Amino acid sequence: MSRDFATRELAPRAAEAEEREQFPREMFAKLGDLGLLAMPYAEEWGGGGQPYEVYLQALEEFAGAWATIGVGVSVHVMSCWPLVTFGSTAQRERWLGDMLGGSLLGGYCLSEPDAGSDPAAIRTRAKRDGDVYRISGSKAWVTHGGEADFYTVFARTSDDRSRGISCFLIPGNVEGLSRQAPERKMGLTGSITATLDFDEVTVETNRLIGEEGAGLSIALQALDSGRLGIAAVAIGLAQASLDCAVDYARQRRTFGRPIIEHQGVGFLLADMAAAVESARAAMLEAARRRDRSKPFSRHASIAKLVATDMAMKVSTDAVQVLGGAGYTKDFPVERMMREAKVTQIFEGTNQIQRMIIARQLSGA
Ligand SMILES: Cc1cc2nc3c(=O)[nH]c(=O)nc-3n(C[C@H](O)[C@H](O)[C@H](O)COP(=O)(O)OP(=O)(O)OC[C@H]3O[C@@H](n4cnc5c(N)ncnc54)[C@H](O)[C@@H]3O)c2cc1C
Repeated sequence: MSRDFATRELAPRAAEAEEREQFPREMFAKLGDLGLLAMPYAEEWGGGGQPYEVYLQALEEFAGAWATIGVGVSVHVMSCWPLVTFGSTAQRERWLGDMLGGSLLGGYCLSEPDAGSDPAAIRTRAKRDGDVYRISGSKAWVTHGGEADFYTVFARTSDDRSRGISCFLIPGNVEGLSRQAPERKMGLTGSITATLDFDEVTVETNRLIGEEGAGLSIALQALDSGRLGIAAVAIGLAQASLDCAVDYARQRRTFGRPIIEHQGVGFLLADMAAAVESARAAMLEAARRRDRSKPFSRHASIAKLVATDMAMKVSTDAVQVLGGAGYTKDFPVERMMREAKVTQIFEGTNQIQRMIIARQLSGA
């Protein structure tokens, strides 16, 4: 169903919408109607009841057709995770059905203008005032910023660097919340990325998810799963770039034969295919560990690192295989190359993934 939707609905619209920098809200609504927006969550809460392994393969299909959609689904799924995992029964009963039901879209607000790689440095404050919290500060780089129906927001409830951060579920239309002009990006131009300003945003204390002070741990655990979504997006992009390069190389002729029959091109394509399959294996291994409730944090960082570096290389090589045509907008590979770049940056840059892996190897 995911592949069919990607081929029929997403692929034909992607290039034009990205060119016009149009946020495709209606596509998320269609995915929601099909039950494809909350695949890895339990059916009793309105999810699809699918293993993470299956969800990631669906994400690959979406991202290969249109990266903005793959990234958007991944961010939405991650935004729901804290409530699913740490919410009380009362909180889940009140909000989860709508969040997973398909008509709402989520955003994840961790980064700030001065806190990206180092989330413990965030400054947005949530001050308790009787039975409400008042939240003030700015959240940067919010995917779906200003378009989402709800945000999972991390804010400081005390000065303790790591234990002073808490997690809140905030409605998108709450008073005091405003969006700055969206970022003008190299790629993923259909996806809105914007800073959100919180000016004394007031919410009831029952919008605190998990315990006060547990927010950083919740945020980092959510990212372990989210990173696998980004790996899937990268693999989807790389597979689509490879498919396009192979099609072209079978048809384009130089020196009297299809270019795929020149060993220089054939070997390049073979290396691209090997890299895509290897990254997919790393991602699926991490996903299967997650599905079996085994530790998977290091495996998720490895999958994100390997898949996104691979996607950057494979999409760049795909442009090379198409020659001059690859550098034009007549083919999707130039767009995919620009989109692949961001997968090395968000949800923890690849330097941060190396730090996580090295820290685990050191036993710290
Ligand atoms: C399109 C897009 C969408 C995004 N969506 C979201 C979102 O929905 N929600 C959200 O919260 N955030 C989002 N982000 C933010 C993203 O996660 C951050 O940009 C990323 O974590 C890096 O933070 P930074 O940009 O502040 O870079 P910095 O932290 O300033 O890093 C700058 C450079 O220094 C390197 N660096 C930093 N510290 C170290 C170190 N200790 N060792 C080695 N190298 C280091 C980094 O790897 C990077 O190369 C998004 C970003 C983009 C571009």
